[in-house]
Amino acid sequence: MTALLETRGVWQRFGGLVANSDVSISVGRGEIVGLIGPNGAGKSTLFNLIAGVLPPTQGSILFDGEDVTHMPAAERCQRGVGRTFQVVKSFETMTVVDNVIVGALVRNTVMREARRKAHEVLEFTGLAARADVLASDLVPAEKRRLEVARALATEPKLLLLDEVLTGLTPTEAQTGVALVRKVRDTGITVLMVEHVMEIVMPLVDRAIVLDLGKVLVEGKPNDVVRDPKVISAYLGD
Ligand code: ADP
Ligand code: MG
Repeated sequence: MTALLETRGVWQRFGGLVANSDVSISVGRGEIVGLIGPNGAGKSTLFNLIAGVLPPTQGSILFDGEDVTHMPAAERCQRGVGRTFQVVKSFETMTVVDNVIVGALVRNTVMREARRKAHEVLEFTGLAARADVLASDLVPAEKRRLEVARALATEPKLLLLDEVLTGLTPTEAQTGVALVRKVRDTGITVLMVEHVMEIVMPLVDRAIVLDLGKVLVEGKPNDVVRDPKVISAYLGD
């Protein structure tokens, strides 16, 4: 079976800065893959290329058997690419449930159906009790969960999580880890960016390390954390 996601020789240049340099990665169906690396390694840029926010300067992106390199973000979302943003982009003046309805409307144009889906996702993500409060009244950990809920409401095949566990207390991070496992158990493939290795390594099936825009190492989490190249990339961080 082919991979759900594949990037082939992807480059992203911002003027003279090379943010992604010949990046070829693949994510298999049902996997949880961690994309890690020091700050500025190019992780968020790669997410933007996969989600279709930016077209790559060079290279191609395949999703679910289709070349999506030039497909707009909204259309990729329709095909099943769901994502969160590193900088939380919830609509602060809207309620929690309305935020999730925005996601659900991608699949259900009937408002009643979208609302039902939103409540189902709030239940799944542990936010049901907060459905009617304003997004601005959520604590940071709940805002992260709302981002995940909104992405889940689009019914993705691939969920892209950008640093959703970063900056949380250990207890909150464990709740987040449990949620990611639960997501995968429903059959959704997960590609997650995290800066802090200790949080993601116990969770992922495979880790890909980016450094200076390039794939440095990839493999089983236990091998990756011990790799001298990875250790020195993080020491220089
Ligand atoms: P990471 O998510 O791994 O911390 P990013 O992908 O955000 O890294 O950034 C990689 C590099 O690309 C950084 O040097 C960053 O400053 C640069 N960069 C990211 N987005 C842009 C942009 N839109 N314009 C110019 N430079 C950018
Ligand atoms: Mg980033």
